[in-house]
Amino acid sequence: MDTLVDVTEHTSRADSIVERRWPAESGFASEAKSVLASLEPLLARAPELASEAILERLAEPERVVMFQVPWRTDDGTVLVNRGYRVQFNSALGPYKGGLRFHPDVSLDLFLSLAFEQTFKNSLTGLRLGGAKGGADFDPKGRSDAEVARFCSGFMAELQRHIGEEIDVPAGDIGVGSREIGYLFGAYKRLVGRFAPGALTGKGPGWGGSFVRREATGYGLVYFVREMLADRGDVLEGKRAVVSGAGNVAIYAMERLEQLGVSVLACSDRGGAVVDPDGIDVDTVKRIKERERGSLSGYVEARPRARYLPGAGVWAQPCDLALPCATQGEVDVRDARVLIANGVQVVAEGANLPCSADAINAFREAGVAFGPGKAANAGGVATSGLEMQQDAAQEAWTFEDVDARLQAIMRAIYRNSAEAAQRSGAPGDLLAGANMAGFERVARAMLDQGVV
Ligand code: NAP
Repeated sequence: MDTLVDVTEHTSRADSIVERRWPAESGFASEAKSVLASLEPLLARAPELASEAILERLAEPERVVMFQVPWRTDDGTVLVNRGYRVQFNSALGPYKGGLRFHPDVSLDLFLSLAFEQTFKNSLTGLRLGGAKGGADFDPKGRSDAEVARFCSGFMAELQRHIGEEIDVPAGDIGVGSREIGYLFGAYKRLVGRFAPGALTGKGPGWGGSFVRREATGYGLVYFVREMLADRGDVLEGKRAVVSGAGNVAIYAMERLEQLGVSVLACSDRGGAVVDPDGIDVDTVKRIKERERGSLSGYVEARPRARYLPGAGVWAQPCDLALPCATQGEVDVRDARVLIANGVQVVAEGANLPCSADAINAFREAGVAFGPGKAANAGGVATSGLEMQQDAAQEAWTFEDVDARLQAIMRAIYRNSAEAAQRSGAPGDLLAGANMAGFERVARAMLDQGVV
């Protein structure tokens, strides 16, 4: 085995592979380079983890599928969208990661998200490889029948690439329980059998798991609780702002409120609501989950609240800031405003919401920062629990799954914090999560060899 490796040389070889192979995917290239650079303290202590071209292999997705999805609108027009599935790494188990339906997706975005997912899934301690995918289809404004036809067209191709021991997709932005239902129905018709292991996020009555809907938001709150505990502090009595009003945001707000935190603001694509009495989560659920409407309607039910069109939530003074909407939603100016207003903890419910400059600003100001790959891993962890229940044909109770989720989030926090401590950067949960996530994947890749 190559024991006297020059770690920097391996890292820069992996960097140049990313740059050469993905010249147009600059977001993925910079994400991969910054993760690889953060591994150097670990690789200096355990150089065998860079042998056998592990870094070069980890920087290259195992498979990328892009495909056309033709489908018919209600008025008979045929539209064509593009579907994607990036199967990044399968060292730890079948590929696993969400499907996103949103007009702004790109190969660059899916490469970045699938790379992140590989580390995140490793951190859960479960047998999950990393993947991500979706389509440039916007379900907003489409009828149920149109969404169902799109899901059928999308699955006509995706079904060739998934399966319980191959790749198990789940939901993400634009893919909620309705879309998972239609995707599952299409898969069942195409393969001719009821195959609950092929998708997660299913309804609890037909192979889904309790807590999967709540898991990312609840898990985020459990992670923040650990971050505060390490500072000798507690959730109760804190003020929070949460961006987004989708799956992650709603269930983060619900758990925060249950644990004594006052959530002062949330947002959607149209603007933000600020409620001095604390956001009423039931009203947000009604508007976003049942009516699929805009948050502007919130003030009709809560007259003391204000709706701010086009605004975000970061200007509201708070102790806890939880970006739960989308990538790139917190830049360095937002970070400075949050810091000036006394924020103590920032934890990412969304994937890649904070820019590198924003993260540096939090680090320099001593604000505790929880990176998404650790803080929002509760969703995929509970998908892993759903896979275990499907395989055993069991249905665990809400309380049982929630207890397992809490234990997983505690372990993710502890492993990330300890890896940061060992590398001489105590409190740097981003570097710690990268190192802890990488180590498990790298050891599996070494064990499995190369022919
Ligand atoms: P979702 O249910 O579709 O909700 C997304 C929310 O963000 C919506 O309220 C949406 O506004 C808002 N939003 C989207 N784009 C925006 C933009 N450009 N500016 C402002 N707001 C915007 O999605 P989700 O499942 O909650 O996912 C949110 C984030 O968490 C994503 O980064 C996702 O990858 C990540 N994540 C999700 C899970 C999961 O289990 N769902 C797990 C891990 C990570 P509208 O309501 O107006 O559409």
